Amino acid sequence: MSNAEVAPAALACGSAADGDRSAGEPRVEVLSARDVPLGGPRALLVRRTLPQRARTLIGAWCFADHYGPADAGATGMDVPPHPHTGLQTVSWLFSGEIEHRDTLGTHALVRPGELNLMTGGHGIAHSEVSTPDTEILHGVQLWVALPEEHRNAPRDFQHHAPAPVRIDGAELKVFLGSLAGSTSPVRTFTPLLGAEITLEPRVTVTLSVDPAFEHGLLVDSGDVHLIGTALRPAELGYVPSGADTLTLVNDSDAPARTILLGGPPFEEEIVMWWNFIGRSHEDVVRAREEWQAGSDRFGEVEGRPGLRLPAPALPNAVIAPRGNPRRR
Ligand code: MN
Repeated sequence: MSNAEVAPAALACGSAADGDRSAGEPRVEVLSARDVPLGGPRALLVRRTLPQRARTLIGAWCFADHYGPADAGATGMDVPPHPHTGLQTVSWLFSGEIEHRDTLGTHALVRPGELNLMTGGHGIAHSEVSTPDTEILHGVQLWVALPEEHRNAPRDFQHHAPAPVRIDGAELKVFLGSLAGSTSPVRTFTPLLGAEITLEPRVTVTLSVDPAFEHGLLVDSGDVHLIGTALRPAELGYVPSGADTLTLVNDSDAPARTILLGGPPFEEEIVMWWNFIGRSHEDVVRAREEWQAGSDRFGEVEGRPGLRLPAPALPNAVIAPRGNPRRR
């Protein structure tokens, strides 16, 4: 997916009520979503929780869009070829189907419950179009920042359909990293966790997690509490590193669906602009120029000849690198 935003508005993060949080338990920071149209006359509206002023990254996760359920007949997805640098894209659907083409030569169908991880280190371009059979489009689009030593990695594409794992009170699909004894075979450049967790109605589930990781729980549906803090759908609950368990409660009479993200804190500062990640303003200026010039750095998406998404104009000011706010 492409970031259609040119000048993202900054929003203050929501404040978390302490709820039934016990003394000594980590404080959950509630990151609220803001609506961003993906572009085009029949724009698909996405709910973006990362990045925002209060938080740039959770582990190496640096971008989180939640969208749908949307009537694909009215607002399908049709994103023409556009570039990426310095990051990996994770496409994860709850319903619908998206046809993916990239300049590695990949032609793949993105389907519910199947991970598609594209690496756009030095440079890649791709297009994403919902298929004609898609009635309801519903899912998440996530980005992972590449660490300095791998940020110019060659183009790559990995697919994995994790077998659902049942634990007491929940079903898990672990698409990256390890959780509840289930491990994804997908290679990453920093340790990561990515899993879909569906909670049964009226349950409390406690998960063991790596205390070196910070975590984010994105709620798709249900009345979910994370370590005692209520999260509404489309909100992302952030838990700093140090926790070795996460307690999730579904307080509704229907199943609750969530996405759990994690990773050790990403210590590097990054420059993120449009669909590029670099380390300096000059990095994104160069990437933009090379995309506009049709450079080999990004290649040609077969099957979508002539079409390409032009880069927006650069801001007048120099884009400053950003990391996470200092710990209070
Ligand atoms: Mn994209």
